[in-house]
Amino acid sequence: MAAERWLFWHRRDLRLVDNLGLAAAAAATPAVTGVFVLDPAILSAADMAPARVWFLLESLKELQASWRKAGSELLLLQGDPAEVLPQLAKAIGAGVVAWNRDVEPYGRERDRRVAAALQAQGQKVLVDWDQLLVAPEALKTGGGDPYRVYGPFKRNWFGQVERRAEAGELALRPAPQGLLAYDGELPVLAELPSLESLGKPFSGADLCPCRPGEAAAKQQLEAFCDGGPLLSYEPGRNMPGESGTSALSAALKFGTLSPRQAWDAAQQAKALARSDEQRESIQVWEQELAWREFYQQALFHFPELADGPYRPQWKLFPWENDPDRYQAWCDGLTGMPIIDAAMRQLNESGWMHNRCRMIVASYLVKDLICDWRLGETAFMARLVDGDLAANNGGWQWSASSGMDPKPLRIFNPATQASKFDPEGDYIRRWLPELSHVNTKDLLSGEITPMERRGYPAPIVSHKKQQAHFKALYASLPKA
Ligand SMILES: Cc1cc2nc3c(=O)[nH]c(=O)nc-3n(C[C@H](O)[C@H](O)[C@H](O)COP(=O)(O)OP(=O)(O)OC[C@H]3O[C@@H](n4cnc5c(N)ncnc54)[C@H](O)[C@@H]3O)c2cc1C
Repeated sequence: MAAERWLFWHRRDLRLVDNLGLAAAAAATPAVTGVFVLDPAILSAADMAPARVWFLLESLKELQASWRKAGSELLLLQGDPAEVLPQLAKAIGAGVVAWNRDVEPYGRERDRRVAAALQAQGQKVLVDWDQLLVAPEALKTGGGDPYRVYGPFKRNWFGQVERRAEAGELALRPAPQGLLAYDGELPVLAELPSLESLGKPFSGADLCPCRPGEAAAKQQLEAFCDGGPLLSYEPGRNMPGESGTSALSAALKFGTLSPRQAWDAAQQAKALARSDEQRESIQVWEQELAWREFYQQALFHFPELADGPYRPQWKLFPWENDPDRYQAWCDGLTGMPIIDAAMRQLNESGWMHNRCRMIVASYLVKDLICDWRLGETAFMARLVDGDLAANNGGWQWSASSGMDPKPLRIFNPATQASKFDPEGDYIRRWLPELSHVNTKDLLSGEITPMERRGYPAPIVSHKKQQAHFKALYASLPKA
């Protein structure tokens, strides 16, 4: 009897190695066909960054080749997944369609529609978690509630990850081999569309530190963990002028790397570490993986986070939203060098260092008094790693409107620049027109009109705006 045909639907898990849903499908039958749906609701959205479309298409190209090597193929569909997937499943007689679960509200609703349509025509669906080390439902407080605060979440998360690792539950699954291709006619797209045909041209590929595809993610992970920057992550992670972080955010977002691979590499590095400083650095990086999961479980349990501020009094904040100031921020023309360097890095490469994300977010909200949701959207429209959970979490943290218990956090951009880019290397790299300016003035932003040579004067004074912001904040009703 011929093996039952299954479809495996890739979404944010663009890899064959250690893909839990795919491993389960391949364990059930060798007759597995992969599928990816180019969903116009996602790809044509105004906040879909060209950098993300580039990363996606390049990763899919490699994934198609990997499927062929494994003996089967990755089919491409275009349209609403709830229509095109059931059509394909019927056309090739698939008995089961498997996929890995998502935390985002749109994805969850889409998945419900797809599952209902498949089940209505008699096909089964198989779904489970893959993109997290611990499933969101497994992380609850002693009172049985989801976590709202990172500290206690982190303690529970580490405990569970370590237990799962000891029990062998995090062991990496190899890529499936010897799969059987479908040999009939297929109603699918012949080839991947181009960035231009999707209306998302991207010219920053050479500058972007995130490299698409499963092979590049593995190489990047090895270079980072195997005697690389991981060992001095603390304090290297805070210096935007150095390559002190992994730049694996897009790989983790699109799943060209699994979180188990990241965890596993960190454990191997820990076993070889030669000092307490190195072990401490590795642990700080593990905590970043925990932040990633904290925001994902938060979005899963509190989907309303995607709609606005978590703290209700922030709904009443009298944002000024001056369009010229907002545009200057977007274009990297505020006259504050650390802000402009960071926004140019984002505009040109599709990525920005974490320290700079915090600095520019604080500046937009607390110096320019613009609603953080404007920044959230601007980031999504540009970031190669743009991810609803992490981006929303980062913006709500910076705006002080989120779950973070610290009431008000205001960054002084000049102080941040002096601390984290003391020689001005990062600023000079992204603002070459200021390379002649002395370091002290570059960091403070106090550049004489003569020296500016066309670079704008600061559009606001941090001192004045900070006082103004605090007064507006004080007028809000207390929580
Ligand atoms: C305003 C703001 C917006 C952000 N938007 C995004 C976003 O859209 N997508 C995104 O992946 N990250 C976002 N972050 C988090 C963080 O800036 C990036 O994950 C990090 O800069 C990616 O660089 P890296 O891969 O070198 O990270 P590393 O320092 O090497 O960290 C390893 C991994 O941990 C995760 N991680 C690290 N820090 C955080 C964090 N604070 N929150 C959640 N996950 C984290 C990422 O997956 C990252 O790749 C945002 C942060 C802020 C302050």
